[in-house]
Amino acid sequence: MPASTPPRPLCRDCDGFPVVAITTGDRHRNGARVTARVSCPTCQGTGYTIPASLVRAGR
Ligand SMILES: [Zn+2]
Repeated sequence: MPASTPPRPLCRDCDGFPVVAITTGDRHRNGARVTARVSCPTCQGTGYTIPASLVRAGR
């Protein structure tokens, strides 16, 4: 166990980087690349997974 344990487990899909910028190939008028920001669907952009103990099965 590491000395510094994060309060919540990092998302296993995005490893704590929930929002990524993807270059679309287009460019703005000022020359900057047009990027599309995509949030991780697993953690819904939080970067952390919800502990199983807090997840209720069903509704
Ligand atoms: Zn994630």
